[in-house]
Amino acid sequence: MSQLKLKDLYDGFRDPETIKAFKKIIEEDAKKLEKPINIMEVCGGHTHTIMKYGIPQLLPSNINFIHGPGCPVCIMPKERIDHAYILSMQEDVILVTLGDMIKVPGSNGSLQDARSKGADVRFVYSPMDCIKIANENPNKKVIFFAIGFETTTPMTAALLDVVIKQDIKNIYFHINHVTVPEVMKELIDSRDEHVDSYNHQIDAFLGPSHVSVISGSKIYEEFPRDYNKPVVVAGFEPVDVMQSILMIIKQFIENRCELEIEYKRLVSYEGNIKAQELINKYFKKSSLFKWRGLGNIKDSGLKLRDEYLTYDAEHIYKDILPIGEIEDHKLCICGDILRGMATPPECTIFGTACKPSTPIGSCMVSSEGACAAYYKYGNLL
Ligand code: SF4
Ligand code: SF4
Repeated sequence: MSQLKLKDLYDGFRDPETIKAFKKIIEEDAKKLEKPINIMEVCGGHTHTIMKYGIPQLLPSNINFIHGPGCPVCIMPKERIDHAYILSMQEDVILVTLGDMIKVPGSNGSLQDARSKGADVRFVYSPMDCIKIANENPNKKVIFFAIGFETTTPMTAALLDVVIKQDIKNIYFHINHVTVPEVMKELIDSRDEHVDSYNHQIDAFLGPSHVSVISGSKIYEEFPRDYNKPVVVAGFEPVDVMQSILMIIKQFIENRCELEIEYKRLVSYEGNIKAQELINKYFKKSSLFKWRGLGNIKDSGLKLRDEYLTYDAEHIYKDILPIGEIEDHKLCICGDILRGMATPPECTIFGTACKPSTPIGSCMVSSEGACAAYYKYGNLL
């Protein structure tokens, strides 16, 4: 028997014939809709797939996408980047973070700029790599600048668990974990408040499936129930997205409003209970977290529980970390893009002053950002 390869796991979900078959069924079913529907894909991973595979071109004109705020890098406000920058400039600190975070501009520059000024900034694929760095540098303080939605929070909690159990004395945390349902509520509620300025009503959501692998689909339960918005938790391959769109269309045709899971390969209603317990052990809700472009959103952030404050770099370095608010670049419309009110080409500096090599706003920095996806794949549309 031949060995299973990684591509065998996703090939079928990228199959052009299957995608075309879905296109045909969607076209037929969409004719039965009474009015156009606007589907918000909350997650940057979905935006990337939608743009990469030209999915808007495959859909009839009464099915529209609204790109949402779902990239943990894009939503990081300058204030938090400035914290990372200041921490990294401390002589005895090694600042560690994940992926694209290193390139996001704060008001003093990015972490990449800090590195060019001599700061020890490192990026890792797994938070657990901090342990090796801490062991190799016993005289330094390793600060993990933790970012991400429910997807990456368990990894931070697992690192803290090891740090405590192994009594590692030189690892600290700057926590920037955020949660998805609260921002979805904010996006609906703010539309109600500013009904004149929002021309795009959200009719349904594609739910991020990575998040639900951890939290379960149950975190979206209130959207069909209390907000009358169907949610389909969708996988990240183009066939997953097409199937999820079809599931949403069918709900409208059949007059249903439900929470459904398309990505049954990994998502369950309950999610990963062990990971949830680990998160609850170390984290609690922070009453307000500022999202870039969206402002303060109630209960949308996490912070370490009080008994773990000795590991909290934000607490330890509170005297040198600024707390004031910082404005974004005045031409950058990331806020409107993250709210799904505008698309990247509507920004006057999209692709000119702002491009992946010289990003001005965060949506151009992260590969999951809407501006970066439009820049990379926009010519396919
Ligand atoms: S971490 Fe997963 S769920 Fe979150 S934005 Fe990225 S792909 Fe989407
Ligand atoms: S193109 Fe650049 S400046 Fe314009 S909204 Fe996107 S990130 Fe902001």
